[in-house]
This record gives sequence, C-alpha cells and structure tokens, in this order.
Amino acid sequence: TEQKKVRVRFAPSPTGRLHVGGARTAIDNWAFARANGGDFILRIEDTDPERSTEENVQVILNAMKWLGLDWDEGPEVGGEAGPYFQTQRMDTYRDALERLQERGAVYPCFCSKEALDAKRAKAEAEEGGYAGYDRTCRDLDPDEAAARIEAGEPHVWRLKVPLDHGPIEFEDAVYGPMSFPADVMDDMIVVRSDGSPTYNFAVVCDDANMGITHVIRGDDHLSNTPRQILIYEALGYDIPTFAHLSMILGPDGKKLSKRHGAASVEEFAERGYLPDAMVNFLALLGWSLDGETTLIGRDVLCREFSLERVTKKDAVFDETKLDWM
Ligand code: GLU
Repeated sequence: TEQKKVRVRFAPSPTGRLHVGGARTAIDNWAFARANGGDFILRIEDTDPERSTEENVQVILNAMKWLGLDWDEGPEVGGEAGPYFQTQRMDTYRDALERLQERGAVYPCFCSKEALDAKRAKAEAEEGGYAGYDRTCRDLDPDEAAARIEAGEPHVWRLKVPLDHGPIEFEDAVYGPMSFPADVMDDMIVVRSDGSPTYNFAVVCDDANMGITHVIRGDDHLSNTPRQILIYEALGYDIPTFAHLSMILGPDGKKLSKRHGAASVEEFAERGYLPDAMVNFLALLGWSLDGETTLIGRDVLCREFSLERVTKKDAVFDETKLDWM
C-alpha cells in the first residue's frame, strides 16, 4: 500500500508561554516531520477567548523561531507563512457539524446547565457517584426538536455515542495497545449554544481537515483520545496514529513547574543559552539516539528521530545538566 505523506502539527493554546514540555512536543513533531520528509504545521488553538492572549501568541512564535522550528505552511502574513489560528477556521467546524447532522450522528440538546447541575448534584447525593448526561434529549421527536430550534430555544449539539460500541481501541505509537470502555462515554457536547466548537471537536475537525497523519502530543491528552476517536468515527474520517509523550518531571520527581527554576523557553533564551543546546537537550527528554549519545546536532536529529525510540518512562528535566552543554 502507498504510504501517505507524513503530516504532523504542534498545537499550542496561547494561554501561557512556551514551556519546556510544550517545546519538547514541538521539537518531536518537527524532527519527526523532517526525518520522514513530511510537513510540520503550527496551529494556534485560540478558541478560549478568556485565557488566550495576543502577547502569548507572540511569545510562542518568537520561541519557535528562536529554537529554529520552522513550519511549512499556513495563511500568508507579511510575505511569510503564518501559523493557522483556530479562530480563523470557524467554517471548518460549521461544515463538520453539518456533516454530523446529515449523518444523524448528533442531536440538539435543550437541557440548561442549571438543570443538568441540579440533576448531577442529586445523583451524587443519592449514589455518591458522578452522573453523566442522561441523554434526555437524545430521543426527542426530530420535528419537535426542529421546531424548538426554529423558535430560537438555546441548545447545544451532542454526539450520539453508539450504544452498542465496544471498547475504543487504538495502538499508541509510544504506549502500545490502548483500550477504553465506550459505555461510560457521555454524549459529549461538540458545539456550544453560542455556536463555538468544544476543544475535542475543534481538534478533530482540524486534524482531519489538515490531513494530519500522526498526532504527537503530551500524555495529559491521553484521556481525550478515545473521545476524539468517537468523533472521527461519527464523521467517517480516517483515524490518525496517536503518539503520547510521557510527562517531564523535575529532579525531585515531581511534575516540572516554576518551582524548579526556569520553565519557559523565553527565560532560557534570556539567560544566554544557545538554541542548538536547548534543542539538543529537550530532544533527549524521552527520546534517545542510541542510549548513550548526549550531543546531537539538528542534522542528526532531523535524520534519525523516530517514535520507536521514544520511551514511556517519565523524563527528568535537570537544568544543571544544561549548563555544561
Ligand atoms: N491545544 C492543546 C494544548 O495546548 C493541544 C492539543 C493537541 O495537541 O491535541 O494542550
């Protein structure tokens, strides 16, 4: 069978600076694209207007440029390929919702947040457990639902998770075979009452629309993957290969954070570290060439990077080791 051209993306949310974990994800995607003669796409996930800032966008773009992680395409800005921005891609999400509607894979839900919160509180008090959406609107008469939409009643769109769906299975390129029960999956909201896409929906629409072949991202997204697979299936699109990258810990074994010192690329740049050293150092967090080599140039990284050599073990970021690079 013919191999599809490799296409990967780095998809930061501009809700903060580019920190060490994000930079490692960006480097792995970039190196994977280069090693496979593929395309590397930068997509700014700015759909959360409250937490996204223009300043963070600039800081992320500067950090990408400083690290030398060049991306291959995007809408032109000032003669250069800019990144993609989700806020400029609303048509993609609207089209995808239409497709789901045509396929009978979604339904409008008129339950108010207050009503759902009250039901949830009641269920928790009675059974001591979390109660998901009870699918009240799933069986509404379609004509009645259409009339209520016509009358302007606020509604969200929910995914009709197939009730007979077996476990959601996929082969993670790093973690191996994964399986999640589907019967605990809520009929998740894909489009909110204001028409905006939810996070999982926007990611799937974009990845499918952009022809992404490998989704390489932090393992904090592992629990989103089965949800996203359900959305791919509902849309009838090919499911990409997923590769989740293990967490980065500080030398004390705790999740890397500000407490451990510099956490953003910008801070390392200000302190005078060289971009090549930084790329070398971050590339070796969770990936190795041969288990020994500690000095790796971009040329070697861009030739040799492979997902097979990414480890499932958490990586440790020890800034003091960067000092002698
Ligand atoms: N925007 C997400 C984040 O910054 C990443 C989404 C993804 O890689 O699928 O965490």
